[in-house]
Amino acid sequence: GSYFAHVEQAPEDPILGITVAFNKDPSPVKVNLGVGAYRTEDGKPLVLDVVRQAEQQLISDESRNKEYLGITGITHFNRLSAQLILGSDSPAIAEKRVATAQCLSGTGSLRVGGEFLARHHSGPKIIYVPSPTWGNHFKIFPFAGLETKTYRYYDPKTKGLDYEGLLEDLRAAPKGAVVLLHACAHNPTGVDPSQEQWEGIRRVIREEKQLLPFFDSAYQGFASGSLDTDAWAVRRFVSDGGEVFAAQSYAKNMGLYGERVGALSIIVKEAGIATRVESQLKLVIRPMYSSPPTHGAAIVTRILSSKKLFDEWKVELKSMADRIISMRHELFEALKARQTPGNWEHILNQIGMFTFTGLSREQVEYMTREFHIYMTLDGRISMAGLNSQNVPQLADAMHSAVV
Ligand code: PLP
Repeated sequence: GSYFAHVEQAPEDPILGITVAFNKDPSPVKVNLGVGAYRTEDGKPLVLDVVRQAEQQLISDESRNKEYLGITGITHFNRLSAQLILGSDSPAIAEKRVATAQCLSGTGSLRVGGEFLARHHSGPKIIYVPSPTWGNHFKIFPFAGLETKTYRYYDPKTKGLDYEGLLEDLRAAPKGAVVLLHACAHNPTGVDPSQEQWEGIRRVIREEKQLLPFFDSAYQGFASGSLDTDAWAVRRFVSDGGEVFAAQSYAKNMGLYGERVGALSIIVKEAGIATRVESQLKLVIRPMYSSPPTHGAAIVTRILSSKKLFDEWKVELKSMADRIISMRHELFEALKARQTPGNWEHILNQIGMFTFTGLSREQVEYMTREFHIYMTLDGRISMAGLNSQNVPQLADAMHSAVV
């Protein structure tokens, strides 16, 4: 007999499972708006031109080899990544108060940061995540050894931020608990605090409760089109001198999804602490995967260290962000033209890759069944999967679902 006959069939991942169902659908008009991956106006995955250029350079550079990287990856990559998120003139970097490790995209950075906190945080080993949040947060942090709790974030009535609820929940958290904050383009709601609200959040975190902010930055530059605008909140928290964790992903903003390239930065109060923190990060990483892969980080290093490639990247990044924003307008106008009941202003106001439509699970299931449109059951659609051809089909489906 098998030692594993008792193993039960696991459910599909709620997000990746949509692609599985999508692939099984033989309809020629099917549309996948589930996964958060950028598509061109022709509905194709995009490899950025700067990425192609960097890869050409890497291939023709005969001094390169396939040796192992160090446990925390490429040193130059780590410095450039810290500069990208914190700003190139960041005093924290100049004062050597930042420990950075190249990790496996955003997910790996969160996982390593979570496990470091589970081992070394002197406050409560609890992380507060927004409600709702990217579903993987509820898996990553408990496996890393942190207890997960939620704070109020989204108000379905206003389709905006539940600012008062958020502050109330943070005020009720135990002193020193960790707070997960989406740096920009909150997933799945597309709702971000205003700068004024960020200030209010920061005051509660810093002055009232001494909570520890952990930023998840999966969309820097991808949300507004500006790398600096999208890093504003992280930089504001670092500028007050307090401690910050930041997980960065290059999946979306450089289109490096499958290369798994990202970074964890831990900003502390003294250079000596940063050095010791980095030494302990190695003890988290070494037994997990020994050292990170080379290729993606080498691409990023080329792009961030060449003024020419960096400038070209910013143009390509902005054009991705702009295309998504223009899809918001097209969808909004298409619903208006159909006189679809309801207020759809939030399609314009939400930011980043997703729109949290407010459609119910039943409405989503109806749209999938009748219109072959695939999206998460919470009513989230990936705006990056829309184009001028499929917007009318989506608008027809939404109209038909709500009338
Ligand atoms: N965090 C958030 C909020 C995300 O939306 C994502 C991707 O969907 C990630 C982290 C991590 O993605 P990756 O591990 O591909 O960088």
